[in-house]
Amino acid sequence: MIDFNTDICELQGVGKKRTELLNKLSIYKVKDLLEYFPIAYNQINPPKNILNAVIDTKEYIRIRIIGFSQSFKLTIAKSTDGYTPINLKWFNSPYIMSKVRIGKEYVAYGYVKKNKSSYELIQPILYSVEEYNDMIGKILPIYSLTKGLSNNILSKLILDTLNKINFTDDIFSKELRNEFCLPHYDFTIRTLHNPCKLEDIDIAKYRLIFQELYKFMSKMKKLKLSKNDIKNNFNINEHISINEFEEVIGFSLTNAQKNSIRDIMSNLKSESSMSRLLQGDVGSGKTIVAFITMINVALSGYQAAIMAPTEILAQQHYNNFIKLIKQLGIELSVEFLSSSTKIAQKRIAYENISTGNTKIIIGTHSIIWKDLEYKNLAYVVTDEQHRFGVNQRQELANKGYKPHILVMSATPIPRTLAIMLYGDMDISIIDELPVNRIPIKNKVVDSNYEKAAYNLIEREVNAGRQAYVVCPLVEESENYDCVDVLSEYEKINKFYAGKINVGLLHGQMKSSEKEKIMQEFKDRKIDVLVSTVVIEVGVDVPNATVMVIVDPQRFGLAQLHQLRGRVGRGKHQSYCVFLILSAGSTSSKRLEILEKTNDGFKIANEDLKLRGAGDFFGFRQSGDFNFKFADIYENTDMIRKVNVAIDKYGYIDDEDITNISSTI
Ligand code: ADP
Ligand code: MG
Repeated sequence: MIDFNTDICELQGVGKKRTELLNKLSIYKVKDLLEYFPIAYNQINPPKNILNAVIDTKEYIRIRIIGFSQSFKLTIAKSTDGYTPINLKWFNSPYIMSKVRIGKEYVAYGYVKKNKSSYELIQPILYSVEEYNDMIGKILPIYSLTKGLSNNILSKLILDTLNKINFTDDIFSKELRNEFCLPHYDFTIRTLHNPCKLEDIDIAKYRLIFQELYKFMSKMKKLKLSKNDIKNNFNINEHISINEFEEVIGFSLTNAQKNSIRDIMSNLKSESSMSRLLQGDVGSGKTIVAFITMINVALSGYQAAIMAPTEILAQQHYNNFIKLIKQLGIELSVEFLSSSTKIAQKRIAYENISTGNTKIIIGTHSIIWKDLEYKNLAYVVTDEQHRFGVNQRQELANKGYKPHILVMSATPIPRTLAIMLYGDMDISIIDELPVNRIPIKNKVVDSNYEKAAYNLIEREVNAGRQAYVVCPLVEESENYDCVDVLSEYEKINKFYAGKINVGLLHGQMKSSEKEKIMQEFKDRKIDVLVSTVVIEVGVDVPNATVMVIVDPQRFGLAQLHQLRGRVGRGKHQSYCVFLILSAGSTSSKRLEILEKTNDGFKIANEDLKLRGAGDFFGFRQSGDFNFKFADIYENTDMIRKVNVAIDKYGYIDDEDITNISSTI
């Protein structure tokens, strides 16, 4: 008997090793396996010659392997399609060499790149010619994978499992499905893993998004109902006024910042517990709003904590906070916590937090670890909320704490939508940037301008400024971001020939290494930071004035906007260069939007207008909520429908599992 709760290790063909690999993809139970949906689909056509391939997309190319070379972590296979030489490149995959026969023909499926006149396939999957011929004409689901687990194996495992079960019930009633034109769950899940027609995929996808929103918004509506019950248990007062802060911090707050602080302070002093969203575009100055209110809570004798999604960001908050209390000349004990905090240090921190010696706690999600006890936690701020689920709040509540909650987000979202999605929260919006800001100058350029871009960096560095160069991930969910960032780093280093200090930052570095590099950048020991998107969220180095984004067409607009937000934070003119290096790519309408405006809200709306149908999940997150399938801009209408549906048909819990019956 198989059901949703069956452990995957009980499935046929899943031994210890495969279980571990599946666990890496967060697949533990049959439910996880069946809800591990493809990130794309391929209708398999006969393979192409490289000259017919579309650059910057994934293509099937028939090749013959000629030989291998291995350098650092990069494995390169020389190959030919019969006319044109092609380099196949893999990162961290030396085992490839033992699996592939030199001289043999394969069909390689990978990301096509063209550098000057030479062609490359990045991180290709190789099929034998026989294997490939069998697939022609079919619609192949493409899953996000982990090293050691192939698309074929995963797909086969899912299909085998689907063959053994039927979904009899559905969490949505027949009436609801009829009213909102949703297919049955059984159809949905079979279609997504094994579609007969391309059109069916859209129908199934629609249901999946609807379901995801339904669960999420159910949770929100429930929270809203329970919210009124929570009493404010704390006696918080304003110990330092906005004016007093302004005298110390060296700039005046914008009206929007002041209003947000007043909103929060009046909640903290009121009868009931606060739950508030603070929304403001990148660079609008949300952090100081959090800090000022946290300090008032601490001076009232309670504990206040701020939680950031990355270690880099948490560390930055810590440093800035320490600086601020020094400027204010007040004594407050502050602890920093992250997953890399050493045990001895952690013990001391835990002790200080449980006795109440420490009033301010700054860190990653480590600050809500199970065994950490607070003395009197009154206020929790989560920065860049999208990286955290609603669950964290629940976790805190489960520990017996009922702190005031402030959630900070840079996701531009209209108020009407925000009310539906953040159902239980009050909303403050910072809708103006600090006055001293000079708008960023933007330019979309191609490889002819590459040298000029590096010259611009050099000029700025010579004037005392700093720069970022950001390279794209080749494949979002996989760990191959080094391929491009390493070669970019080497290229730039060579270009400056030691005149400028260039640093490297990417996702595969240990967090202590990352931090060291980030600190060196802040301390201006590094002038130019070549990095992947690890710097995306919230990093604040106001002295940085140039951002060069390599191959921006590979990023989503929201993400590009976030990235660009790393510059234009200080008093100097800043520049953002969108540098398209891959040949064959042209400047798109989407990039033109970024060239024209720095306003996140406008960008989100324009982006929506330009989107075509046929985009699949996973490629284009709006970089905000933790939705796997839904997109708040594209699915605005559906959000309204779901809102109506929940009111009519009632809540659905995440845990409500569809009834399934096993046929074996
Ligand atoms: P975000 O809203 O993206 O989190 P930050 O809080 O990191 O933005 O603020 C960006 C930068 O602007 C920081 O260096 C901060 O010190 C500075 N800043 C914040 N508020 C003001 C203001 N009113 N005037 C001038 N600079 C400000
Ligand atoms: Mg921020």
